[in-house]
Amino acid sequence: MIRGSTIVPERIYTHILAVNPEHPDPDCIDRAAQALRQGQLVAFPTETVYGLGAHAGDVAAVRRVFEVKRRPASDPLIVHIADTSQLTDIACNIPDLAWQLVQHFWPGPLTLVLPRHERIVAEVSAGLTTVAVRMPQHPVAHALLRAACVPIAAPSANLFARPSPTTAQHVLEDLAGQIELVIDAGATTIGVESTVVDLTGAVPVVLRPGGITLEALRAIVPGLAWQARQVKLDHATGVAAPGMFARHYAPRAELLLFVGESEAVVAQMYATGQRLTAEQKQVGILAPAEELADFADIAVHCVSLGSRSDLTEIAAHLFAGMRELDRRGVDVILVRSFDQSGLGLAIWDRLLRATEGKFIRVAAG
Ligand code: AMP
Ligand code: MG
Repeated sequence: MIRGSTIVPERIYTHILAVNPEHPDPDCIDRAAQALRQGQLVAFPTETVYGLGAHAGDVAAVRRVFEVKRRPASDPLIVHIADTSQLTDIACNIPDLAWQLVQHFWPGPLTLVLPRHERIVAEVSAGLTTVAVRMPQHPVAHALLRAACVPIAAPSANLFARPSPTTAQHVLEDLAGQIELVIDAGATTIGVESTVVDLTGAVPVVLRPGGITLEALRAIVPGLAWQARQVKLDHATGVAAPGMFARHYAPRAELLLFVGESEAVVAQMYATGQRLTAEQKQVGILAPAEELADFADIAVHCVSLGSRSDLTEIAAHLFAGMRELDRRGVDVILVRSFDQSGLGLAIWDRLLRATEGKFIRVAAG
């Protein structure tokens, strides 16, 4: 539809198929698999986040993924497979190390970047000669990929730069009317995306921390490189050097990230919440369950990230928490950093990207 000079995309009916996460109904899976084979877009749960699937050999379907997500064509997609035997259809010159990682971590939240096989259309990889591949563990993703019989290109099923979707409802918030089908199997378990490891260079490099920890990978690949981004802070404003982080995974509300020892950080968040509410701002607090009581006497919206002693809970609730506070219409969200070991590295990465690298360092009290 063209109105004036603006192209308004046609809205289509988005079907929702509810399935049991452990034992999805085979008829539902077949219907979704057929839709994928026909070039339609199908959102489906994986153990990390919901993915937006398209037939990786269908250029028109792949292009539509970029369009509906409003994702830059320069940002490559991950190809999802049901079985390790499919890897040789997607990538070529596969090094022994890739097979070793496959054996230890697939199915699971590990994505490998390898030289692209010529039968995978260049659009999937944003024109790169490499391709990212993963074999998910979620029973619904696995059943769908097996039934589809074709490799499926699937980025996260959100609008570009928004927090990734961990429920079917999140997918619908962003993409209802733009895609043909959503398979609803409830909340995903890990809640942050896969770890991306590039095996095409001189040394293996982690490009994105995620569901498989650096520690687990280094037990197999001791020389694995990880370039922690050096955030250069302007100490007066707490602002990072511009351009170091593209805004990504971000809520609509402004996000303020507090870093430091937990008691001092909570005190600083409380004082900030008090000041902002006095300025008539709607304030959201995204914090571990144990810390929410500390904010009880100010008029803020509190959302729990789960227990602070369990980083798997924090990761699982991170994006959903940002979306919930957006839904409540807050102006500002206050959140704190966590230990960067294990899954904490992925949590830290997502928080930094959501704030474009800005944080507020709190001195011990
Ligand atoms: P998403 O599917 O939204 O979780 O994002 C996929 C991410 O995987 C991209 O944004 C890249 O960071 C990474 N990726 C995918 N393909 C490649 C590739 N060929 N080379 C390097 N990174 C890749
Ligand atoms: Mg994404």
